[in-house]
Amino acid sequence: MSNSPTRREFLGTLAAASMFPLEEEKAELILHNGNVVTVNQKEPRTQAVAISRGRILALGSDADVLHLATVGTKKIDLGKKTVLPGFIDAHSHPAMAGVMHLRMVDCDLRSIAAIQEAMRERAAKTPAGEWVLGFKYDDTKTVDGRPLKIEDLDAAVPDHPVHIEHRGGHTVYCNSLAFRRAGIDARTPDPAGGKIDHDAATGKLSGRVAESARALFDRVIPEKLTRDDHREGVKLISKMLAKTGITSATEAQGTPTDLLAYQDARDSGDLLYRAYCFINYRYIDSMIAAGVRTGLGDEWVRVGAMKMVSDGSISERTARLSTAYEGRPSDFGIVVMTEEELYTYGKKAHSAGWQIGTHSNGDVGIDTTLRVYERLQKESPRHDPRFRLEHCTVVNDGLVARIKALGAIPTPFSTYVYYHGEKMRYYGAERLNHMFALRSFLDAGIRATQASDYPPGEFVPMMALQSEVTRTDMKGNVWGPKQKITVEEAIRVGTIHGAYASFEENLKGSLEAGKVADLVVLGRDPLKEDPMTLVTIPVERTMAGGRWTFEA
Ligand SMILES: [Zn+2]
Repeated sequence: MSNSPTRREFLGTLAAASMFPLEEEKAELILHNGNVVTVNQKEPRTQAVAISRGRILALGSDADVLHLATVGTKKIDLGKKTVLPGFIDAHSHPAMAGVMHLRMVDCDLRSIAAIQEAMRERAAKTPAGEWVLGFKYDDTKTVDGRPLKIEDLDAAVPDHPVHIEHRGGHTVYCNSLAFRRAGIDARTPDPAGGKIDHDAATGKLSGRVAESARALFDRVIPEKLTRDDHREGVKLISKMLAKTGITSATEAQGTPTDLLAYQDARDSGDLLYRAYCFINYRYIDSMIAAGVRTGLGDEWVRVGAMKMVSDGSISERTARLSTAYEGRPSDFGIVVMTEEELYTYGKKAHSAGWQIGTHSNGDVGIDTTLRVYERLQKESPRHDPRFRLEHCTVVNDGLVARIKALGAIPTPFSTYVYYHGEKMRYYGAERLNHMFALRSFLDAGIRATQASDYPPGEFVPMMALQSEVTRTDMKGNVWGPKQKITVEEAIRVGTIHGAYASFEENLKGSLEAGKVADLVVLGRDPLKEDPMTLVTIPVERTMAGGRWTFEA
């Protein structure tokens, strides 16, 4: 049997949970005759995997592994199909997206008329005066060539307050009744860190508000979700993720409600991926007071990093940049939390042993976050804090060197180039060579991850591979070709690097004896596929913890 040292190392941990020594452990399931890509450099390719109690018991050639079969062992002939470790989405909002899919209108539609129709339809089924909510609206993906306006929403839905979130999650679009409910009129000043847009010609409300101004609506939209709704949301999104080969995901803006929803879904058998649940900085005091810190939990639900936000978004063009957006010479984006705020909360979390993950998109936003991390580590050095830079989109050589020196982890958007190509022109060709900079990160020895940021980005891992390898959008435009990586590298980014980002590289992220049995069976081998068609590779089965979570 291969990798017995790994098995032996692992014995200590398993002994506590197991009544029998590993030597007597029976193979419950053997997958054989496969093309198994392990992401373990000691044994990169093999044929067969034996699984027991949710873990990998052994890997090796068919001959080596099949002889472990006993009377009760189930065997599956993979027919030479490719097996990879399950994919790890290191930055996403699955629990949040799950409840959004449950109660909101999916506005990922291609015209303003189609959005109006969808909202009108939902309003017809909603008592007058109650909120009609939408999400996944994307102003760059409608044929109209202009954003939604307050008049569009008033015309479609006059008798219900309407609130539609942009796909990027940093701006919302509302009708007149919604603005009245929120107590906003054309003279209301912008709150700190936020913006209430006005029509340039008339000075009237345009319908759009950005960043912290969204809170004016959050105050008045009733949170009618029950504890059960949140569990249902996790159940729904679990199936969506499993279908694409994802077996672990980070909840990147988590709250105590999400943490509870994950525990409820795990208990009811509905949780199909391992959740690393970040906690928003607003809850950090009560978390620290309760004695909670990063890492608490189990293999399925674990407390992640404390989350903060340095600047705005890429898809909505609010990331804070050192040079202005293309065609908008005075627009440098938005600062969301000040350096002093980041430091104040960061210090609390860092001293209490928390990992920190700070949303940092633009080069100015990243610079600020790095300065805070450098200061924290200088004032109270901690061994291996694994600071995270959520998104870490626009970089330069100086920033990359500081990330490496700090041992920090960037989680760049994996599918943006492919799926959101139409937004890339706002950044310009030169800047694109420094965005989603996987080539620069890997060359510097930085363990960057795969990260969808769903709902803003698509989460399909095969799309991430294609996007990262080809830097080509759906229409064939190439954006930032200097940052191309190989398929082999993209697979590592999507598996073992994701495990490292949550301190779980000894538990998952590669197929090795003793690690959890999280894997995906693909219809074709991505390493032999034309990179331009990676996204079409079918996922045939997904397994998490030895259980099939998806079967085509
Ligand atoms: Zn996010």
